Amino acid sequence: MPTLTDIAVIRELCARHGFTLSKGFGQNFIVNPGICPKIAEAAGIGPGWGVLEIGPGIGVLTKELALRADKVVAVEVDARLPALLKETLAGFSHVEIVLQDVLKADLRALIAEKFSGLRVAVCANLPYYITSPILMRLLEEKLPVEQITVMVQKEAAQRITAAPGTRGAGAISYAVAYYAAPRLLFTVQPGSFYPPPKVTSAVIQLAVRPAAAVDTPDEAEYFRLVRAAFGQRRKTAANSISAGLGLAKGRVSAALAAAGLPPAARPEQLTLQDFCALQRALRGEMV
Ligand code: SAM
Repeated sequence: MPTLTDIAVIRELCARHGFTLSKGFGQNFIVNPGICPKIAEAAGIGPGWGVLEIGPGIGVLTKELALRADKVVAVEVDARLPALLKETLAGFSHVEIVLQDVLKADLRALIAEKFSGLRVAVCANLPYYITSPILMRLLEEKLPVEQITVMVQKEAAQRITAAPGTRGAGAISYAVAYYAAPRLLFTVQPGSFYPPPKVTSAVIQLAVRPAAAVDTPDEAEYFRLVRAAFGQRRKTAANSISAGLGLAKGRVSAALAAAGLPPAARPEQLTLQDFCALQRALRGEMV
């Protein structure tokens, strides 16, 4: 099997397959030989595990996953890559490439069909332009996935893993913390990729919770409230919620008081539990 972290090997492989890297698909391949084994080890997979990879590229991480898991299914959107992957992953009969857009694929059906009897993890060097939609899909659909270990842009990693109620938290931090316990594992410099991206990267891990972190009376309504609170950055939660949900400012202030929360609270100062209390105080008034 060729050394997929060797740039000369990558160039030769791509030239032979008439493949040129696509910026549009976020194609920055890992070439630091230490990174993929480190990600695969961190993913905590082994016998008894099936791994869903998103965006295998030329298969450098796929190979490390295949060395550890019972089965790897890699969803790739670029129709030019399966032929190339057939060559780089030859000999790994328990790896399957599925040519699909991960945002459109029926992941529940895919997992049920491919990973029957296995514990399921997601592991990937994600295409950064769709980091949030991918993570939200994986979490919101409540797929039978135990662990998500992915490389993302460092700023996204910090935002995603920021604890609700602390500086740096955004709407995505709340959504992620609701469904999972997130951790930032390590950062990766641009020089570890080919071509090097302009940004620093980080690997994060989301341990999916068996049950949501808080008990909300209505999940969709809860997240409408959280999104509204973060809708206008620098404003107080009350102002943003009032504007975002079309509620009178006085009504929102009264609800904050009823929930025992400061009237001028910024959204990032509120915890998941605080938003639940606020939602209860506003119940029946949100559309
Ligand atoms: N895993 C490889 C590595 O680490 O070297 C490639 C990672 S590269 C950052 C992102 C990969 O995601 C590319 O292979 C790209 O073609 C693929 N990709 C981009 N958009 C996708 C989508 N919507 N669905 C599935 N794969 C996608």
